[in-house]
Amino acid sequence: MTTDRRQPQPATAAVHAGLGIDPTTGAIAPNISMSVNNAFRPGDGAFSAAEAGDLVDLPFLYARWTNPTVRQLEQRMAALENAEEAMATATGVAAIAALFLGSLKAGDHLVISDVCYAGAREMADRLLPGFGIAVSAVNLTDLDALRAALRPNTRLIHAETPCNPLLRLTDLAALAEIVHAHGAKLSVDSTLATPVGTRPLDHGADYVIHSLTKFINGHGDALGGILCGRKADLAAIRSRSGVYLGAAMSASNAWLILRGIDTLFPRMAQIGASAQIIAEFLARHPAVLQVNYPGLPDHPQAALAQRQMAFKGGLLSFRTRHPRRLAALMPDKLRYIHYAFSLGHQRSIIVYLDTAEMMQSTFHLEGAADADYRRFAGEGVFRLSVGLEAADDLVADLDGLLALAD
Ligand SMILES: *Cc1c(COP(=O)(O)O)cnc(C)c1O
Repeated sequence: MTTDRRQPQPATAAVHAGLGIDPTTGAIAPNISMSVNNAFRPGDGAFSAAEAGDLVDLPFLYARWTNPTVRQLEQRMAALENAEEAMATATGVAAIAALFLGSLKAGDHLVISDVCYAGAREMADRLLPGFGIAVSAVNLTDLDALRAALRPNTRLIHAETPCNPLLRLTDLAALAEIVHAHGAKLSVDSTLATPVGTRPLDHGADYVIHSLTKFINGHGDALGGILCGRKADLAAIRSRSGVYLGAAMSASNAWLILRGIDTLFPRMAQIGASAQIIAEFLARHPAVLQVNYPGLPDHPQAALAQRQMAFKGGLLSFRTRHPRRLAALMPDKLRYIHYAFSLGHQRSIIVYLDTAEMMQSTFHLEGAADADYRRFAGEGVFRLSVGLEAADDLVADLDGLLALAD
């Protein structure tokens, strides 16, 4: 028995939170609970989510609502984000959809960061207006632009920091003040920061979203998402989106992701150290025109990065001369870095994101917003997700490739 009642440090919560010793077997490692149904006594359950109040206060009934293994993951993520409650979803995009469709209704207005994960931006642009939800895309680093965009019916502001793929940051405390003065709520996609870097709720956000598919699972073998926030807010969203939209996480994915989180802190320490070395190498390289990484002193928001990010992340983007030619060489010439989409795995991944294509498919930015995108991305950026390989091997891989840039 311990008498120590301090809150555990986050690194300790990453291996302990949500874990209970199995009462029947004494197992210390989490067991996967595959059962879809759990037996209950008449009167203990609820037949309709609308009647149930907070579903997580009920006994386990049906795995679409939550499940013992999924619940362990929810409790661990809530602890890591300093949140009262968390709801796991099948993917990161499902967590964003659960929030948008579970907390907004026809007649409401959403402000979304003009640059953020493509799936979120496209969902807001293509799906929500069809449900009567108005959407404005705003550069959330420009607080005057945010103030000008707010309307009486603005209910939610959705930010992403650092944002994918520019690595532009958003000042969460400043944003939260404006959003709350307006009576709206602030959600933050913190996938790139991870809870190791930033805990958005501590900076005033109301909701935090992660694609668990990325650094948090960290092994490229499970899709997942999480929405963290206040108990009352999450109860309402779980009873609508969790039950009626149905994008529940599977128990086996929850188990894999819990296992990924066990090593989150040491993985991120190594990935962050390597990303810093690689960013500095790229910044010195004559074929490289620009590097976007919050850990570099010449990042336009380096002071904010120091204030808001305990860890500067494992993702960076950079511009080179002749990027299309270089991109075409990558699948064959890179030894360790895979040419692929996605990010946050144990193996490094690179992809070329052409600005003209991004403008056509996802961002549709015009005027000053287009100029701001190009300030970070030029005609296109390479997005590099740093893995767990030795930093020297990754630098050698990139050095060999960049020699072919001219
Ligand atoms: C990948 C990603 C998502 C979407 O997550 P999925 O698990 O692929 O659905 C959302 N936000 C960010 C920042 C991402 O990188």
